[in-house]
Amino acid sequence: MNAMGRVCDVAVIGLGAVGSSALYQLAKRGIEAVGIDRFAPPHDRGSSHGESRITRQAIGEGEAYVPLVLRSNAIWEELESVTGERLLERCGFLFMTRDDAGTSHHGHAGFLRRTRDAAERFKIDHEVLDAAEIGARFPQFIGLAGDETGYYEPGGGYLRPERCIAASLSEARRAGARIVTGMRVCAIERGADQVRIRTEREEVVARHAIVATGPWLPQLAKPEIGRHVAIRRQVLHWFPVHDISAYRAGLTPSFIWTHGLDSAEQFYGFPPIDGLVKVAREDDAGDFDIEQASREADFDEGPAMAARHVTRHLAGLAALPSKSAVCPYAVTPDTDFLISSEEGATVVSACSGHGFKHAAAVGEAAAALSIGELSSLDLPQFGPGRFNT
Ligand SMILES: Cc1cc2nc3c(=O)[nH]c(=O)nc-3n(C[C@H](O)[C@H](O)[C@H](O)COP(=O)(O)OP(=O)(O)OC[C@H]3O[C@@H](n4cnc5c(N)ncnc54)[C@H](O)[C@@H]3O)c2cc1C
Repeated sequence: MNAMGRVCDVAVIGLGAVGSSALYQLAKRGIEAVGIDRFAPPHDRGSSHGESRITRQAIGEGEAYVPLVLRSNAIWEELESVTGERLLERCGFLFMTRDDAGTSHHGHAGFLRRTRDAAERFKIDHEVLDAAEIGARFPQFIGLAGDETGYYEPGGGYLRPERCIAASLSEARRAGARIVTGMRVCAIERGADQVRIRTEREEVVARHAIVATGPWLPQLAKPEIGRHVAIRRQVLHWFPVHDISAYRAGLTPSFIWTHGLDSAEQFYGFPPIDGLVKVAREDDAGDFDIEQASREADFDEGPAMAARHVTRHLAGLAALPSKSAVCPYAVTPDTDFLISSEEGATVVSACSGHGFKHAAAVGEAAAALSIGELSSLDLPQFGPGRFNT
């Protein structure tokens, strides 16, 4: 450190899903990089906690995401082999709907058809199931109406988010990155050939900054970028398994299920982890105050999840959750990611409730952009300019 504070080539601000991945890639390539986080990741204040995140390879949100998830899976597997940690569980993924054209997921009607089209185009192993086949193959799903269609992808499953972040950071550190936690970045000042990063404690000077602050992104991004991001409160619930017979190993995919004829009648969940099944629904109600709002679920949210979704549709679970957690995320108007790279700073958010599965590749792409390389992935479509047309 000199009189100006730390000097480095690239500073990565925010070490959650995306920032930890970017730092890992920079360090692996021998770039002098510093990672800064206001907390000590992995932590439970941002968008990346709660033990599990669904991953699938045929991406109904858009075919541009398929190369991102395939590249991410390769990176998670590389991290698994160097750390010995289990990060990616390929237990299968099942999407179920009763009215594909009339309901939507992540803003896209016909999500099953879009997913199936992507699977066919990228030759991703999958099956299309009717209600009888779903009921016979997966006894944990009950209360089927009889008109469901399912898209089943055996190579899908879930990621363990806290372990992914910890693995990226430990490998980044091992490859030479400096990591500073418990230090909030207050402002970024872009100069002609350097960026000054003012924190609560010191100043960091870098040639380029990657801003990967997730649901805090509007605080540090330029207003013309940050204004496209809203923050939404999401609640996760864990239900104890009382009858394990419906959850036979190898037959318990992660799932997204629209069990009614309205998109609001949708929830998603995971196989049991340590005797608990985690479920949630995507909530787009109201803005979330990321600094002030409570991270506790309201007392009536667990019973509401049980009554509306779990009791009628999942076998063998307790009547009420044993724990719940609040986990906010950033969302854009079209639910696509936001990546903006210009002189001095790359602002990146794998957002809108579907970003974890892509975070390793998005972090790698941000690392490439920060050192002036073009990413081989199709990133221009995620630029903020799309909102001005
Ligand atoms: C409930 C929920 C369920 C989800 N389910 C799925 C799923 O099933 N599948 C899927 O693919 N995706 C899912 N997602 C989306 C995915 O988890 C997020 O897109 C992803 O975790 C976002 O990562 P991030 O790096 O952008 O943000 P984060 O992981 O939140 O990281 C941001 C980091 O920036 C730090 N930071 C913020 N401000 C500052 C500052 N001023 N100075 C220094 N550091 C700062 C924070 O401390 C934090 O560590 C879900 C999200 C939520 C919330």
